[in-house]
Amino acid sequence: MSTTTATSDAAKEFTVTIVGGGIGGLALAVGLLRRKVPVQIYEAASAFSEIGLGLSIGPAAHRAMPLIDPQIREIYDALVTTHADSPGYEEYRQTWFEIVWASGGQEGEVLTNLKALPSGQTTLRRAQFLDALVGLIPTEIVHFGKRLDHYLETDRGAQLVFDDGSSVQADVVVGCDGIKSRVKESMLPEKSGHTQPRYSGMYCYRAVLDMETMVEAVGDHRARVSTIYIGDGAYGISYPIMRAHKVNVGIYVLSEGWDHETWVKPVTKEIMRQDTNNMGRYVRSLIEHMPDASQWALFDNPPISTFCRSHVAILGDAAHASTPHQGAGAGQAIEDAHVLAELLSDDRVRTSRDVIAAFQAYDEVRRPRTQEVVSSSKTGADLLCLCLDGVGNDAEKLREAFQSRFRWLWDLDIPEQAERARRMMYSHLEALVER
Ligand SMILES: Cc1cc2nc3c(=O)[nH]c(=O)nc-3n(C[C@H](O)[C@H](O)[C@H](O)COP(=O)(O)OP(=O)(O)OC[C@H]3O[C@@H](n4cnc5c(N)ncnc54)[C@H](O)[C@@H]3O)c2cc1C
Repeated sequence: MSTTTATSDAAKEFTVTIVGGGIGGLALAVGLLRRKVPVQIYEAASAFSEIGLGLSIGPAAHRAMPLIDPQIREIYDALVTTHADSPGYEEYRQTWFEIVWASGGQEGEVLTNLKALPSGQTTLRRAQFLDALVGLIPTEIVHFGKRLDHYLETDRGAQLVFDDGSSVQADVVVGCDGIKSRVKESMLPEKSGHTQPRYSGMYCYRAVLDMETMVEAVGDHRARVSTIYIGDGAYGISYPIMRAHKVNVGIYVLSEGWDHETWVKPVTKEIMRQDTNNMGRYVRSLIEHMPDASQWALFDNPPISTFCRSHVAILGDAAHASTPHQGAGAGQAIEDAHVLAELLSDDRVRTSRDVIAAFQAYDEVRRPRTQEVVSSSKTGADLLCLCLDGVGNDAEKLREAFQSRFRWLWDLDIPEQAERARRMMYSHLEALVER
């Protein structure tokens, strides 16, 4: 972590307390610190950490990064793997994924080369990205080993109560505490099961393989070009990370119901084989080469009525955890962080009371988009498993659906989104003054 002192701006009469230091919480912290908004971070773990698996970021979040802080984009671009990292594959520079049939008569053939302009596929190892973000955070603003249990609304903001029995008074809180968010639980007016994460009807197998193993499994081209294998009832995904020395692999299986308490369950290789026995050679070979036999259940968040209440808001998976079928969850947390950093640092937001207007505008702008991401990601699973209504396994309709369904996600005008939120915030601020 950085040892520089957290900057503070005399103009701000509040400190933003962030609960949870994942990609969302850290992106927000970096954006606020750059804009001289005082920040404190409370993290449950004893250190910042991420799993070692891969992450793919879409073009809109990529464009949001430098607007949060140019250093985030520099870090990302320095760590990122593209198709150009594999000599001979430069022509795939703008490819996001090649979509390949995993089952049926055309098994192994390419359906379409899906491009993501201008960045193409950009991937990295999550843990590396998080570690680099940590380097931008001053040590003295971070409090580890602080797992929030709940918070209580107070006249001055919120009292955060941790599971070690300690508590702290905060002016303003942003819950970035992931899909099982405790901030969300305390915040929502609807205290019912409808707000709990729900099983999405799919689980997956995940691994990071060495490039040599991957080439052995599926050949050089399929190993080096990011690939989605679309199949009947299951699909696979692979993309190079770590300058194409490693490959992130996931095999996703449709399966009704998840009756285990934990979200990750060890299974035998035989079960993995049974799950993919109607897939063709590529997916079956990947299964044989994957070392870890664990099923990871995929949950997402049902739509909730608000992302904020009074001096508290939620961001990233805490607000809108999505299934991974569009590779957009972390990207949405980054987009959230951009809008919130812009609003909270605005000169007209001076007191914690003003923050209420900022949170309202953030909710109005970010909730519709992020909830759309959650629902379109879920239907994305049906598309990839060849069972989307009206599309099925029709090659022409599949091509059309792949080309069109990412446009709205990737083409967002990022600065305009923040400016729209700012205008909304100004009108809420005016309404506050009139009260
Ligand atoms: C299989 C899979 C593949 C994915 N692939 C992609 C992809 O390719 N691209 C993409 O954009 N997204 C992807 N995602 C989604 C992405 O991983 C998440 O959207 C993203 O990590 C969310 O970041 P976050 O900071 O909001 O939450 P998290 O990463 O969950 O961070 C939450 C933080 O809060 C802390 N915390 C939790 N509870 C508490 C508490 N009570 N008190 C204090 N601290 C707490 C945690 O320790 C953690 O540090 C994928 C998800 C899955 C499941």
